[in-house]
Amino acid sequence: ETSRSLNFIEHIIDEDLANGFSKEKLRFRFPPEPNGYLHIGHASSICLNFGLGLRYDAPVNLRFDDTNPAKEEQEYVDAIKKDVEWLGFEWDTECYASDYFQQLYDWAIKLIKENKAYVDSQSSEDVAKQKGTPTEPGTNSPFRERSIDENLNLFKAMKDGDFKEGQHVLRAKIDMSSSNMLMRDPILYRILHKAHHRTNTDWCIYPMYDWTHGESDYIENVSHSLCTLEFAMHRELYDWFLNQVVEPNNVRPKQREFARRNLSHTIVSKRKLLQLVEQNVVTGWDDPRMPTISGLRRRGYTPESIRNFVDTIGIAKRENVVDVSLLEFCVREHLNKIAPRVMAVLDPVKLIITNYPEGEVEWLEAENNPEDDSAGYRTVPFSKELYIEQDDFKEEANRKFFRLKLGGEVRLKNGYIIKAERCTKDAAGTITEIQCTYDPKSKSGSGTEESLRKVKGTLHWVSAAHALPAEIRLYDRLFTDATPDAYKEKDFMDFVNPNSLEIITGYVEPSLKEAQIGDIFQFQRLGYFNIEKDATPERLVFNRTVGLRDTWGK
Ligand code: ATP
Ligand code: MG
Ligand code: MG
Repeated sequence: ETSRSLNFIEHIIDEDLANGFSKEKLRFRFPPEPNGYLHIGHASSICLNFGLGLRYDAPVNLRFDDTNPAKEEQEYVDAIKKDVEWLGFEWDTECYASDYFQQLYDWAIKLIKENKAYVDSQSSEDVAKQKGTPTEPGTNSPFRERSIDENLNLFKAMKDGDFKEGQHVLRAKIDMSSSNMLMRDPILYRILHKAHHRTNTDWCIYPMYDWTHGESDYIENVSHSLCTLEFAMHRELYDWFLNQVVEPNNVRPKQREFARRNLSHTIVSKRKLLQLVEQNVVTGWDDPRMPTISGLRRRGYTPESIRNFVDTIGIAKRENVVDVSLLEFCVREHLNKIAPRVMAVLDPVKLIITNYPEGEVEWLEAENNPEDDSAGYRTVPFSKELYIEQDDFKEEANRKFFRLKLGGEVRLKNGYIIKAERCTKDAAGTITEIQCTYDPKSKSGSGTEESLRKVKGTLHWVSAAHALPAEIRLYDRLFTDATPDAYKEKDFMDFVNPNSLEIITGYVEPSLKEAQIGDIFQFQRLGYFNIEKDATPERLVFNRTVGLRDTWGK
């Protein structure tokens, strides 16, 4: 339990409990449609619903809202389960709306028999034309007064596959002049001759979302059904549908709405993310640039960092865009605590220590994580020829440059104090080698007076002969605009950042030889990097999870 104040959903539940709703009857659900991989927006809904489960010690269902066989697949079901578990949550029951197809059908028959539903045989264009506008009432369908018997026969024939797609729909008979357009005889069923990933070809009519969702909540005894704001207008319909079936003494689910979460410089919509995958803008749903849970995981994000992010932004009643730098802050904060420190040089220049004995190798002790006392020490090889970063050396620089310059001194992390004496340049003027001398008495941790001497800069380095080459994947924002899908006149695809991936070869200390896929490290002074799943025993590949500080746009 955190010390944060209650969110408005918790206030609603507390009030229900205070008004006599039995705590034992609380039940929640997270209801994804398996038509894509979960994204960071879903993490808010997952943490909200499962968080309520933990807070009230109540069960939470994982409900697959699988009523559209045209878009849903088992692959997505599997990915969603994996992601929810990885985030650290346990569901009570795994449920599928498709398991309720028979019950929903039976209830539809009941509606027809009560003269509350009818088969409409108009084209979808004509149905749309009769909808009216928010200020003008709609028009009744010419089929609205079909007899109950005719409706029953037609609906059964729809189910039996006697018709083509689009020939008929089943509509609820509510009110074509309702001020809420959604109440104007909404569609309950449409014909779809498509196999479903679970019910196969058992059905060729499929229930619509609104008809399915509340009734599924009711079947599962869900007490509080939390959805995003775009469903606020649907609440009246949700309640109307429940009124047709709820029996006394059963839990009547309550729909409440919270704001969808958006993240800057990316997209949180499965449909649009699918476009990125299908058009090969990214390599797949789990591309490390994707805002999907699987992409973030592959990139090196931890469940803790994502949960902490979601907790920090909280639950809101109004939509806004959260800056992605907050998400990056959260992962940086967690990785700072847990990631072992190692040395890697990404843009190498050779550094020769002229007074260091030829052929000698020293194994220097290096602290694994100053933030974690239990992390221990490892050794790193030191020798006459090292690599340091190109931009850690300048021939001349002002007093604010605390790195290496000619005539200046720095400490090599875990090693010695060195002084730059000369450098060699190629024809283009690029520095190809730096010649230094070292102070043999200045070794870190040796306790000598020289080892305690303060110099302004400390550089990371690797021993050239021992370092392992590694492919390093550097990521930038996937979109160049903060809100790529917020423009009417432009498509979000127009804002794809052509430079979102840069691949370089770097050199890492040899202790990384045994690192496993997924292991996360801090490359000192550079950022957090994890072993990418494309890595092989012969080829190290790293993803940059995030830099050490927020330098974007600077
Ligand atoms: P998408 O447009 O990405 O498909 P969706 O809302 O259609 O989103 P669902 O699979 O229906 O996706 O989502 C499951 C649950 O997660 C729903 O309750 C939905 O309201 C919630 N959810 C989806 N996106 C967000 C978001 N960006 N922020 C908060 N909750 C979200
Ligand atoms: Mg949905
Ligand atoms: Mg959707």
